[in-house]
Amino acid sequence: MGMVMVKCPQTGRAIPTGIKSDRETFLRSIVFFGNTRCPICQANHNWFAREAWVEEPIVRTAEILGAAPSC
Ligand SMILES: [Zn+2]
Repeated sequence: MGMVMVKCPQTGRAIPTGIKSDRETFLRSIVFFGNTRCPICQANHNWFAREAWVEEPIVRTAEILGAAPSC
């Protein structure tokens, strides 16, 4: 699962919409729009699904492997 992100039209920064989805589901979902409270502007922004993207949590495989005991 990832977080659906949109770009803040005021600052150009990525903000989380609070909607959790995975990339496959999100891409298959019908076109919709949303309204998200922006933590940067303290204002509501309207956005369209085509402007949004899913940010998957980064799995740090190297760190997991590095943490394994090495004897
Ligand atoms: Zn904003």
